Amino acid sequence: MSIPFRMCVVCRNMKPKEELLRVVKYDGQFTVDTQGKLPGRGAYICKNGECREKFEKQRSFERSFKAALPPGLKENIKKELI
Ligand SMILES: [Zn+2]
Repeated sequence: MSIPFRMCVVCRNMKPKEELLRVVKYDGQFTVDTQGKLPGRGAYICKNGECREKFEKQRSFERSFKAALPPGLKENIKKELI
């Protein structure tokens, strides 16, 4: 039995997928993938809130996707984080 681990783009820690929120870029569109099942390239952030305040300042998703994030997406990400 192996649990899938992914890396948080902010703190760079490896965590079980269920502890991370997935953001997806597919066909040029960004989505917060709450079900974790959408196709496309994903990047992850800790759900527990410890990385909530840092992802904007560090531009973590921008660096991971090598693209600017739409402003509405950042709000959607923050809404999903505790
Ligand atoms: Zn983190």
